[in-house]
Amino acid sequence: MLMKMKNTGEMFLGIGLSLMVAHIFDLFSFPYIYVPLIIVGLLLVIIPALKTKTHNSLLCRIGMHKFNHKAWDNEIKYVAIYVCERCKKRKRVVRSVG
Ligand SMILES: [Zn+2]
Repeated sequence: MLMKMKNTGEMFLGIGLSLMVAHIFDLFSFPYIYVPLIIVGLLLVIIPALKTKTHNSLLCRIGMHKFNHKAWDNEIKYVAIYVCERCKKRKRVVRSVG
């Protein structure tokens, strides 16, 4: 649903921006039709971005987590547990001993 909103928004923005460019270069005679297209497009792109931002930062979404060493595994002593500061994603890393 949110992805669909974003895609529609990008399409609106694309059309709006190309109409604006056409208007700037006097290629098009419907001057302000691009204004609502750009506004609606921006809203459709921003709203889903804001909704997903609350539980996942942009960096985490592209896979750049900020892992901190939190603990050692209870059962296997050389397995370290890392937790991402931002999204709380956990990962286990096997550390060689010695
Ligand atoms: Zn993260």
